[in-house]
Amino acid sequence: MTPSPERARPSFHHIYVHVPFCVSKCPYCDFHSTSDPADRAIFLRALESEFRIRNEQFGPFADIQTLYVGGGTPSCLMENELEALGNVLRSSVRFARDYEWSVEANPESLSSSKLGLMRAMGVTRVSVGVQSLAPAVLSFLGRAHTAAEAHSALRLLAEAGFHSWNADVMFGIAGQSLEMLADTLRGVLAYDPPHLSAYGLTIEPGSKYAEAADSSQFCADEQATAGQYEYVVAALESAGCAQYEVSNFARPGHECRHNRAYWARRPYLGFGPSAHSFDGHARWWNTRDLQTYQARCLQGKTPTAETEVLTPREVREEIVLLSLRTKEGLRWDSLPDVCHAEARAALRPLEVAGLLDVGADGCRLSRRGFIVGDAVIRQMVDLVCV
Ligand code: SF4
Repeated sequence: MTPSPERARPSFHHIYVHVPFCVSKCPYCDFHSTSDPADRAIFLRALESEFRIRNEQFGPFADIQTLYVGGGTPSCLMENELEALGNVLRSSVRFARDYEWSVEANPESLSSSKLGLMRAMGVTRVSVGVQSLAPAVLSFLGRAHTAAEAHSALRLLAEAGFHSWNADVMFGIAGQSLEMLADTLRGVLAYDPPHLSAYGLTIEPGSKYAEAADSSQFCADEQATAGQYEYVVAALESAGCAQYEVSNFARPGHECRHNRAYWARRPYLGFGPSAHSFDGHARWWNTRDLQTYQARCLQGKTPTAETEVLTPREVREEIVLLSLRTKEGLRWDSLPDVCHAEARAALRPLEVAGLLDVGADGCRLSRRGFIVGDAVIRQMVDLVCV
């Protein structure tokens, strides 16, 4: 019989909440979101109801070490809605003493009063989607904010007094020159962020740009993207932000603990439409459709859409895929079913090519390997997870 999430009883110390609202839809994005404000009050009631339902299944939610409120754009909630969200969350979970509570924000909807509210709620970390400070790039990406609004959000965050905060930037965008990227990094670093995430543009299937006959026209070519990535790594590391994952950089002590929990495959629970959960063996996800999500939760039913129990091979693949993205890399003892001598022999060509550092305890991507990134990791999966 297939185990269902309803029967599993692991300890969950990490929670994700998906807030499905954005000011407008970016044409490259397929994250679940709507710009209709009419749904917000109902969503908050449905979310509260989902916490009650999940509490009966998995609760109580005590000793929560990380809570990540993402989206969508949580900062586009009005102040009273943000306060209501905070009340739902604080009444539904009990935090561990040294907890991390992150909230995602975008510049067009961030204000000092919202940041003040978040601090009063107990939020410890805010992540802002700057993406670029070049007006032409922002408009190409269809972002709802201007460069001036991005500067203003960065200034507010630098002064807000959170334990930590992050700025997202993007590269690998058609028409984005290295100078534009360098100016953006310089501009963001001027606010001294303790954490930065840098992502290459990907056109998500199901997004507006993906409908184009040739969706690759929106991205820079592979060589330019690799060059920009190398530039980002060098610029951030020389500014004191050490790379600790393919896309993430932090000053010491400011690494995102929630993301680290994902990469270490710790159990987590996801709330809200399209949110995923994982108990160490199975993964399940909520319905994407906001109306269905709300209707089910308000009727006292779980909004789970599907459950997938991982096969031993899928578990091995996940371990390789996730751990190799990190600076620590893959430890052989995390793959007890794999013959390590054979794996090391199979990986020799990647080692000789300078893409992988292989040692007695495990292996990690070299500096060059990080640049090629996903391609090496895919090869690793094929070589090790047979
Ligand atoms: S990229 Fe971010 S802001 Fe844009 S639609 Fe997607 S979730 Fe919303």
